[in-house]
Amino acid sequence: MLTIDGSFGEGGGQILRTALGLSLITGTPFKIEKIRAKRSKPGLMRQHLTAVNAAAKVGAADVEGAAIGSQTLIFTPQNLLPGEYSFAVATAGSATLVLQTVLPALLSASASSKLTLEGGTHNPFAPPFDFLAKSFLPLINRMGPKITASLIRPGFYPAGGGRFVVEIEPVKSLSGFDLLQRGEIIAKRAKAMVASLPTIIAEKELKVIAHKMSWDSSCLHIEKIANSAGPGNIVTIELESENICEVFTGFGERGVKSEDVAEQVVKMARRYLVSGVPVGEYLTDQLLVPLAIAGEGSFVSIGLSRHSTTNIEIIKKFLGVTFAISQLEKSGWLIEIKK
Ligand code: AMP
Repeated sequence: MLTIDGSFGEGGGQILRTALGLSLITGTPFKIEKIRAKRSKPGLMRQHLTAVNAAAKVGAADVEGAAIGSQTLIFTPQNLLPGEYSFAVATAGSATLVLQTVLPALLSASASSKLTLEGGTHNPFAPPFDFLAKSFLPLINRMGPKITASLIRPGFYPAGGGRFVVEIEPVKSLSGFDLLQRGEIIAKRAKAMVASLPTIIAEKELKVIAHKMSWDSSCLHIEKIANSAGPGNIVTIELESENICEVFTGFGERGVKSEDVAEQVVKMARRYLVSGVPVGEYLTDQLLVPLAIAGEGSFVSIGLSRHSTTNIEIIKKFLGVTFAISQLEKSGWLIEIKK
């Protein structure tokens, strides 16, 4: 049984999710202690407990310590069971992070799966649905499986209640990819989403983006959501290039000016554009697990966050892979994964 220190490095929920995902694939049982020790409310929160329970179902696992606030968990998977599942985070906790937990194991399972996920779909500090659908999943599809994701309705903090469906057609084994160059930018879009909030919020956000990015109105879109459980606002900048699509997200918050939300997302998009590299910061930590499972691949990243460096150490505990990381002269970091 592997023992994992949940307070290691970044010390958040990703350590747990990566361990669950790789335990499912390898069949390796593990014990994790000091879960989310570096967070203000340590231990399992509703979203993490949903992820644990989801992994337990998918892996027919024996689990000890699966309770809210628990800081120790023992997870022993028995049998990987692809199929049809519904996983709901009862609060506005991120449902996309529940997907992040079980998806890797289902990519090369023996049969297809259909997952219905409920909870938050556009949460700060988690992959928003649009990022999943346009940036992350297309890259995973490049590795062999066929995954489709459909948003039924968005869920925002604090009401939650979002829902999306993911269908996975697996492959026998994942193939890696090399993503060293971005290629030309072929499309750029900014989208402001407002749910049960005045449209002027979206208009103000897009005005800032149009001005700061020098984009004309053909790049700007407003999406008014009528079917969410509560109010919400996000603004995304999507940069599609020949080899990759990156999605940057700003989250509207009570007390934060729409202009400031837009400024934040402009800053991220500009940094990416100036860097010239293909893979942004969030995508970097999220590509490590699938490429490590494939046992091969390389990409150029804008930089390794603490999430990435921590994830690498957890991955190395489960899989016999090596990561070679080197800073490039021009800009960015080359990450190479080998068996
Ligand atoms: P943790 O903080 O350990 O719960 O992990 C958060 C996860 O969400 C990481 O995999 C991040 O890459 C991802 N993430 C956070 N914010 C974003 C964002 N704006 N876009 C895409 N992914 C994100």
